[in-house]
Amino acid sequence: MNRYLMTPGPVPVSTGVSVSQARPLINHRCGAFSELFLSIEDKLAQLLRSGGRTVLFPASGTGSLEALAANFTGPDVTVLSVSCGVFGDRFREITALYGAKIVSVDVPMGCGVTPEAVASAVERNPDCSVLLLTQNETSTGVLNPIDRIIAAIPREKRPLILVDSVSAVGAMPCFPEEWGIDGLATASQKGLLTPPGLGLIWLSERGWDAVSKRKCPSYYFDLARQKKQLYMDAPENPYTPPVSLYYALDAALDEILVDGWFDLRRRAASSLAAGIESLGFSLLVKDENFRSPGLTAFSLPSGDIAAVSKALKAAGIEPAGGQGALKGKIIRMSHYHDVRWPEISLALGSLYAALGSGRAQSRDFMRDALAAWEGK
Ligand code: PMP
Repeated sequence: MNRYLMTPGPVPVSTGVSVSQARPLINHRCGAFSELFLSIEDKLAQLLRSGGRTVLFPASGTGSLEALAANFTGPDVTVLSVSCGVFGDRFREITALYGAKIVSVDVPMGCGVTPEAVASAVERNPDCSVLLLTQNETSTGVLNPIDRIIAAIPREKRPLILVDSVSAVGAMPCFPEEWGIDGLATASQKGLLTPPGLGLIWLSERGWDAVSKRKCPSYYFDLARQKKQLYMDAPENPYTPPVSLYYALDAALDEILVDGWFDLRRRAASSLAAGIESLGFSLLVKDENFRSPGLTAFSLPSGDIAAVSKALKAAGIEPAGGQGALKGKIIRMSHYHDVRWPEISLALGSLYAALGSGRAQSRDFMRDALAAWEGK
């Protein structure tokens, strides 16, 4: 039986990306490796619309968050941590582990973070020299408007801004230099359409300056050590890199850097949302302005979501369930990869069957989803 992976990481990778990893391994201290490294750097610079280079290292997204926490925070730092879900909480927890004092702002799960809420929290907490934000909160499918949030903070009052974009980069605009982010963390296995295992960190000039003035308590995550080799003419990793994943990321970036990619992800999200609502499910994120182009979360007010999930899995569809307070209460379906109408109709048709015959609120769910897909 075919299985359709719809978890928000890992996501399905194309055959081209899979096969790229079968290339023979090369010495990571040679010109060929630096060329591969530079090719990735050029493509990431296009994707992030930034002139700076990106640190790559073997880690999952949590490792990237830890690298930011280790380099920017410590017992002498007070951090303003804004969370709207499980991953915002995780970033906060990691930072607390490094000894930072935390001022928390919590937004209910399913709701987005507004520019006004953050600007006023920054105003009230001038002692916070670091601000933690999550771009795409994967536990709920909320996309926060990081550009507008940062723009709402007067430039002279801006703390160092660290953003968890683990489930954003690749699937939606993320332009850290233009937006004023100082430290951006992401990973390979979601919007970057690459297998899991690669962590990525991008820092602004202000960010690099800040980390150069601190002593990092971690050897492996010390970004200043990474920077020396990153900025050589022939860049290298300080430690052994997962070369096969570099091949994969290089190939995946070609699939992402095509005209209209972000638009396609948005259309897939709107179309799936329209069909899901029409079927009688309830979207977790009520305000469509905060809905993620990468994943959609929904519950079933008039029935048993666990039974739907079980039926989907039995049919070969593999979405994710809820996390934290939402465990057992929602289904999360991802659309990071090249999901178009055939995949959307497969997901909706499978949901219709999983609900049980006759239980769909409307039989027009396909028509509604298609109208949204076609932008009508
Ligand atoms: N932050 C966000 C927003 C995420 O979606 C995830 C993964 N779901 C993480 C952090 C942690 O990443 P990983 O599981 O790769 O450690």
